[in-house]
Amino acid sequence: MESRNWIGGEWSTPKGGEMTVYNPSDTKQEVGVLHLSQADDVLQAGDAARRALPGWAGLTWAQRGEHLYRLAAALEAHADEIATLASTEMGKPISEMRGEVTRGIHLLRYYAAEGVRAIGQVIPSTQSQVLQYTKRVPLGVVGIITPWNFPVAIPIWKIAPALICGNTVVWKPAETASLTATRLVELFAEAGLPGGVLNLVIGTGSTAGSALIEQVELDGVSFTGSTATGKHVAAICASRNIKYQTEMGGKNAAIVLADADFKTTIPALVSGAFRSAGQKCTATSRIIVEESVYDQLAAALRDAVKDLYVGHALDPKSYLGPVASKAQFEKVSSYVRMADQAEVVARGTAQVDPASGHYVLPTVVAGVGVDHPLVQEEIFGPVTALLPARGVDEAIELCNKTVYGLSAAIFTQDLSNAIRFLEEAEAGMVRVNLETAGVEYQAPFGGMKWSSSHTREQGQAALDFYSQVKTCAVYYGG
Ligand code: NAD
Repeated sequence: MESRNWIGGEWSTPKGGEMTVYNPSDTKQEVGVLHLSQADDVLQAGDAARRALPGWAGLTWAQRGEHLYRLAAALEAHADEIATLASTEMGKPISEMRGEVTRGIHLLRYYAAEGVRAIGQVIPSTQSQVLQYTKRVPLGVVGIITPWNFPVAIPIWKIAPALICGNTVVWKPAETASLTATRLVELFAEAGLPGGVLNLVIGTGSTAGSALIEQVELDGVSFTGSTATGKHVAAICASRNIKYQTEMGGKNAAIVLADADFKTTIPALVSGAFRSAGQKCTATSRIIVEESVYDQLAAALRDAVKDLYVGHALDPKSYLGPVASKAQFEKVSSYVRMADQAEVVARGTAQVDPASGHYVLPTVVAGVGVDHPLVQEEIFGPVTALLPARGVDEAIELCNKTVYGLSAAIFTQDLSNAIRFLEEAEAGMVRVNLETAGVEYQAPFGGMKWSSSHTREQGQAALDFYSQVKTCAVYYGG
């Protein structure tokens, strides 16, 4: 397969260079070729989005909703094809990838239904015969920049609310998910989305991403990716007075108190840390355990992790597949070497030849201090650190001892400790007896501290970002 740009309703092949995509589950297999955009391509996409804006914003909300329903139907009809392509391109196990595509379909339908929901308030005026009300209006042209780790759900949880609110979009997906992006947009084009409403530009962050945020006339930017890139994007948007939203990294902790029910806790810890090979912004990358059950928990994790099925992403039995790319493999492997020099509490085995792809074995590491890079840096791979705490006070203190604040969990049967954690944990999503990952699409999603620029995505919160409020007042007296 080859990537293409979709600009103003026309398909084109940009001439800014090529990249071959290899299957991370089997690096001998070529999956396709990316054709990279130059700044000019991105500027053309911005112009096309601007031209399409009046027509799209001029539709009723319900008419835009009808388009989103058609996109949902198109994705549903090709769900398995898209899941298989994404698994092959970036290594997420097919069982999880199918779930992600289903989530994409649900998100499209959720925002389609906004077409017939209330979009404002009536506010009493202090003057007689004055009708005062608010309504949502679009921002205008929105730039959307996405990572590779949720190649379907993240783009849709940005594009769907952007479109229902009446914006037009220029989307630059991550390099490691650009074949999936191309196919997704092909489906949307076939489903009749008008030209210029959604524009796809394939390219690198340094060329296409930079051109989008620095040169295109934009009214909003929604970015998900690393904290380093997000800070840069935010600074540029602030200097151009563009409304922005940056969802960034995490170093999410799960606290296990002595009274936790291990039957539900262990599967939740293992799933949080190792599904998607730990490549979720909400992955459990620190497990903070009350000292009195430390040995018991370490033994239970050892047993659970050794049996995890590490295999080819298209093998339906795979619990985790490879990491997404060579760059990811090299970065995550450097943390695995650090873990090997500390104390490895639990490690999995592979059901494939680990050298056939970018496989990293799931690892629980201990014996590292709170300032160690394994405890402070986002690894974005299947490595989690086990840390002892003397009690709930120290556990919450350790949980908060990070620059990140995306998600956090506690496992306990004690209601007062659970509520105290919900109050004191510095994270945008706080969960009791549930894994750190797995937040639902109809609820607000986002982080505190360096995990986010403090807006929220998904649910109704997304409408706040992708629209602006107009206050209208009408005197209807004689
Ligand atoms: P990344 O920051 O390397 O890239 C993200 C996107 O930004 C890509 O499309 C990339 O091409 C683009 N980009 C890179 N440099 C750019 C620049 N100078 N200007 C404009 N765009 C640029 O991140 P990644 O490796 O693709 O994704 C992994 C990261 O994403 C992790 O840190 C993870 O925690 C984070 N993430 C966060 C959330 C969340 O909602 N908080 C969700 C998923 C992933």
